[in-house]
Amino acid sequence: MAIERTFSIIKPDAVAKNHIGAIYNRFETAGLKIIASKMVHLSQEQAEGFYAEHSERPFFGALVAFMTSGPICVQVLEGENAVLANREIMGATNPAEAARGTIRSDFADSIDENAVHGSDAVASAEREIAYFFSTEELCPRTR
Ligand code: UDP
Repeated sequence: MAIERTFSIIKPDAVAKNHIGAIYNRFETAGLKIIASKMVHLSQEQAEGFYAEHSERPFFGALVAFMTSGPICVQVLEGENAVLANREIMGATNPAEAARGTIRSDFADSIDENAVHGSDAVASAEREIAYFFSTEELCPRTR
C-alpha cells in the first residue's frame, strides 16, 4: 500500500451548517491523518484559479459564486491510498447518488452544494496542495 497525500476542502455549505468537526471525524475514522489545516475565504480569483479546468462548463459561474460565498476549510490528508480512500468516504459528486454513510450522503444537499472536495489523482493532489499550502505548513507526524 502506498502512503499518499490528498487535498480536501470542506465547502461553504458544510462550514455554514457547522459540520467541520463531524467531517474531520470521518477523515480520522478512515485512518487519514490531517497534516495541514486552515480556514480561508476564497477570493473570486482564487476560486476561478482552483477550478480552472471547469472554466468552460455551464456551472462554472455558479460554482465560483458558491465557493466564494463563505469560509472554507482546506486540509491535507495523509494515509494509505489517501486519494482513493478520501474519494470513497466522500461519496459520489451528486449526493442523491452517493452511497449511504458517505460524507456527501450525510451532509450535502445538492450536486452544486456538495459539502466537500477531494483530489481525484495523485498529480492533481500535488498541484492542489501547492495551491493552498507552502511546504513549511505541512506537518507530517513524528510520533
Ligand atoms: N458541479 C456542479 N454542477 C455539476 C457538476 C459539478 O456544481 O453539474 C460542481 C460540484 O461542486 C463538484 C465540482 O463542480 O464538486 C467539481 O465537479 P467534479 O465533476 O470534478 O466532481 P468532484 O470531483 O467534486 O466529485
